[in-house]
Amino acid sequence: MENPRIEIDLDKIRHNTREIVKACSNLNIGITGVTKVFCGDVRIAMAMVEGGVKHLADSRIENILKLKDIDIPKILLRLPMLSEISEVVRYADCSLNSEYGTIYALSQESVRQDKIHKVILMIDLGDLREGIWYENALTVVEDILKLRGIELYGIGTNLTCYGGVIPSFKNLSILSAMAEDIRNKHGIELPIVSGGNSSSLYLIFNGIIPKGINNLRIGEAILLGRETAFGKKITNLYDDAFTISSEIIEIKEKPSIPIGEIGKDAFGNTPKFTDWGVRRRAIVAIGRQDIDWQGMSPIDEGVIIVGASSDHLIIDITKSQKTYKLGDELNFKMSYSCLLQSMTSGYVKKIIHQEKV
Ligand SMILES: *Cc1c(COP(=O)(O)O)cnc(C)c1O
Repeated sequence: MENPRIEIDLDKIRHNTREIVKACSNLNIGITGVTKVFCGDVRIAMAMVEGGVKHLADSRIENILKLKDIDIPKILLRLPMLSEISEVVRYADCSLNSEYGTIYALSQESVRQDKIHKVILMIDLGDLREGIWYENALTVVEDILKLRGIELYGIGTNLTCYGGVIPSFKNLSILSAMAEDIRNKHGIELPIVSGGNSSSLYLIFNGIIPKGINNLRIGEAILLGRETAFGKKITNLYDDAFTISSEIIEIKEKPSIPIGEIGKDAFGNTPKFTDWGVRRRAIVAIGRQDIDWQGMSPIDEGVIIVGASSDHLIIDITKSQKTYKLGDELNFKMSYSCLLQSMTSGYVKKIIHQEKV
């Protein structure tokens, strides 16, 4: 088989989606499947749809365009750029927004295209990425409601992305109360109250999600089987729907400390070494142009990752039960950042296993 490659098991993605959808539907919370990590691949997105997500969402309009033949509402996750407004209205049913100027531009374009574009207004509850600061949010609602071609479809928040703020009963209750205020004051339905991403799932599992939150936007938990507030594996979910492999191109016994004066490595860092004596080492044909090496976990637990350069992964196989030889393959599970990088790398082949539905 070709290397390096990612193998993707759609059955596991369907299973993970179903489990999360089920846990949330008991609380009347719908799931939006987030497709950005896998660059909007239609087959993987379909596995999410078959697993029961209500919408698909991506941060890039190019990916939303790839999904155009899937008959389900699509949401643009990243705040629209003013330069892409016409594509946003054309290809996305809904977008997350925090700027009146952008919503105004969406309104003008929607009228031009004779469409209604849905807007989810983002509220910053303290994480300091996108959103209107929660204390000032209500004033803009009145202005949005005056715009033609726009439906204020919901409010939402994003946490644990920049500031690392963990969603809680307390901060999500602010969002939920805000939605009620808007409904009461303006007499609108405001169907969506979107309480965050994979970091909000623990509130569901612990039964402490505030009433009124009725949507979550989930990528990582479906794809890697973990919640992201505390990084815990979710029981009954697969954490190996994606695995990455490449093959050994060198095996040698070498000392664990380089010989000679140590300068900077290829990335401007001064490396530090510990003397473990002579070790059996291998080079795997995969590197920083393909992966985030610190986010790789060897499936062979006897293997230690020592480091990586642009195209090489250096591993220590001294303790492995297996006797590796030239050309043997190594398989790894991946962190979110490694998955993101490898799915985006044009050098990594993507092999999709489509099992029975
Ligand atoms: C990426 C993203 C998500 C999904 O986050 P996960 O941690 O992968 O579940 C949700 N909302 C927004 C705005 C995003 O950008």
